[in-house]
Amino acid sequence: MKSVLRSAFSAKVTCVTALLCFAFFAIPAAPQDSAPAEVTVIHAGKLFDAHAGRMIENQDILIRGEKIEKVGPNLAVPAGAHEVDLRKATVLPGFIDVHTHLTSKAGAAGYNSLGVSIPRHALAGARNARVTLLAGFTTVRNVGAEGYADVALRDAIDEGDVSGPRMQVSGPIITITGGHGDNNLLPFEFHYNAEGVADGVPAVMAKVRENIKYGADVIKFTASGGTFSKGDSPLFEQYSPEEMQALVAEAHRLGRKVATHAHSAQSIKDAVRAGVDSVEHGIFMDEECIQLMKQHGTYLSATTYPLFWYEKNEDSLHLPPWVIEKVAMIIPAAKVNVARAYKEGVKVALGTDAGVYPHGLNGGEFWSMVQLGLTPVQSLQAGTVNAADLMGWSDKIGAIEPGKYADIVAVNGDPLSDITLLQHVDFVMKGGVVYKGNQ
Ligand SMILES: [Zn+2]
Repeated sequence: MKSVLRSAFSAKVTCVTALLCFAFFAIPAAPQDSAPAEVTVIHAGKLFDAHAGRMIENQDILIRGEKIEKVGPNLAVPAGAHEVDLRKATVLPGFIDVHTHLTSKAGAAGYNSLGVSIPRHALAGARNARVTLLAGFTTVRNVGAEGYADVALRDAIDEGDVSGPRMQVSGPIITITGGHGDNNLLPFEFHYNAEGVADGVPAVMAKVRENIKYGADVIKFTASGGTFSKGDSPLFEQYSPEEMQALVAEAHRLGRKVATHAHSAQSIKDAVRAGVDSVEHGIFMDEECIQLMKQHGTYLSATTYPLFWYEKNEDSLHLPPWVIEKVAMIIPAAKVNVARAYKEGVKVALGTDAGVYPHGLNGGEFWSMVQLGLTPVQSLQAGTVNAADLMGWSDKIGAIEPGKYADIVAVNGDPLSDITLLQHVDFVMKGGVVYKGNQ
């Protein structure tokens, strides 16, 4: 069956106005629309070669089904192929965000979060997944969700029930009793612990196994306290080195990568020595942390855009006092320490922490990475090839190359001279299916 969405894009699409185009292609793909066109050829004015880190001009991309078959100048267009004219645009690999919380509703923080059920988390996730995809993020890693709502969302996207990015998911965050990731809002008489709480070596190993049993692709744990949680501090380490080593070894033995939330320098050092694959945030890292991360090849996903966003919006947010206090401490430290890590060449993967601020603003992280010293090319690589490498999906995504999924986005103009263009993606294709149309 020819879908409305697909057939509308199958002929050379000429839109009268960008506005009309947007309105039309913003129609969500129904399940029967999720099959890609047989053969599509995209004519790209400029194309970002993510591995080489440069723009190349006048390239054609031949897509068969959900995969890219050929890339090059003046490719022969097979008879009956659908053509997409992006000659006036810059074409890039679909963006990748390695730190999202799609099932979290921004604004439902602190005590407001207590009234949100797990099914409601999953439904919010369906909405947020679509918003994230339309912002150009064709793949995300979801690092922390209650009740395995993220597993349900991933599977619903894969089965075509809802539109969204490809996902790797962690399930519940593994944390100590009372740590960042536990729920410290209720008093003792409720006897409530979050589902990811595990104390001691056998318990953390069992929790890794449990998360995998219920569908986790990746393991997330909190090595230090955090910002938006009550009763813990980002300045202190949570797990002992022995617990971290056991947790990471168990995850790796079962074929899962490990992401750790770590702010304090001690927590970063112990987590890196334990072999984590990525440090999330890393705000209070010192020179020794940076050197250790470089030695071990550990990725940094600093998630700094929400900090800039909070600076701008703090007055209207009505944050709990414990958050205000911690944000005030974290913002100045992030600007110094993350900038130093970028300058000294740690490996960087783009992560946004979307969910602690509104979903769909993920492209702002490209801008904030450039603010803190990465070049526009480096920031684009962080959100494409590097993120794919961290996720272990370099053979599938992260670059526009033969054999990879046809996950392709386009913007109007040159993002290497204006990085904010990446916050306004005009065209989104995932697996050969167009979700947002031509400019
Ligand atoms: Zn997070």
